[in-house]
Amino acid sequence: MNGKRGRLLIRKGVITVVVPCYNEAETLMQFVEAIRQVQKELVGVRLELLLVNDGSTDNTLSLIKELAGSYPNLIEYLSFSRNFGKEAGLYAGLQHAHGEWVAIMDADLQDPPELLHEMYRLIQDPEVDVVATRRTSREGEPPVRSWFANLYYKLNNSISKVKLAEGARDFRLMRHQVVESVIALPENNRFSKGIFSWVGYNVVYLEYSNVERSAGTSSWSFWSLFDYAIEGLISFSDVPLTLASVIGFLSFFLAVLFGGYIVLETLIAGVKTPGWASLAVIILGMGGLQLLCLGIVGKYIGKIFIEGKGRPIYILKEQRLFEDKDENIASN
Ligand code: UDP
Ligand code: MG
Repeated sequence: MNGKRGRLLIRKGVITVVVPCYNEAETLMQFVEAIRQVQKELVGVRLELLLVNDGSTDNTLSLIKELAGSYPNLIEYLSFSRNFGKEAGLYAGLQHAHGEWVAIMDADLQDPPELLHEMYRLIQDPEVDVVATRRTSREGEPPVRSWFANLYYKLNNSISKVKLAEGARDFRLMRHQVVESVIALPENNRFSKGIFSWVGYNVVYLEYSNVERSAGTSSWSFWSLFDYAIEGLISFSDVPLTLASVIGFLSFFLAVLFGGYIVLETLIAGVKTPGWASLAVIILGMGGLQLLCLGIVGKYIGKIFIEGKGRPIYILKEQRLFEDKDENIASN
């Protein structure tokens, strides 16, 4: 049975699992197998996999096609013209997800598929709109990474109105209405953790301890994570801008006081040893502050620049969706 909401067809009794895939050829088979196992024990609801190939350079796409051929009622896919990033993959997936509920999962089995049982059970409660997950440990992760991650959550939550749950993963199960709210935010600079928090709704958290990647390597380097973290701060808060103006104002005020003091001192005590050292320190300090503030402002302008172009978030090259085939819709 299908319900129609706007132009979008909602498939009742279906969980669409959106999976962004970038060079996941090594893990994909295992992942699909794990999902099939979960389906066997999941009564009353059907799982559908929406795999989004994010411009993989290995044979992920051919593998996806092969799997879609083997399991035509389980797997649909989208494929980008190049690598647009996980955020773009999620956005595309959510836009095309037609299940009554929509889950987001990584392809590397770091999000334990068997949690879907509990997530589905919890979302039966009409009060619950989203079942999200949170890692309680970061075992297997480099300690430096965990340390920065903790620091980041603290910093973000103290300066931004959009709070981030510590250790929260993108792994979650949502009602379709929540998905509609998420895709209604058209920004190019996407930071899902922030967007999910921003849209609100009733969220319950499931906790589990970290699982290491089943195969392959993480595509995030320390610096790409750093950049993503800055993205999160800048996209959801203008506190850094305010901070820049406050620091700028304070140092200007101090400089004026100090200037007055020097003039007075010269008038009263006459010219003493030329204070080049203090001058150099002041010039350096002020210059540094100005560069800092300029840098912060520049970050925001950079965002405006990108958003101003209004470019699409991703470009689809190929797709195979269930609704492309009418008989599939009718059979649901
Ligand atoms: N991913 C993607 N595009 C990218 C990078 C990653 O679609 O440019 C996908 C990847 O295939 C995986 C998920 O995003 O399904 C998480 O990536 P990864 O495991 O590398 O990140 P980590 O778990 O280390 O945060
Ligand atoms: Mg991973």
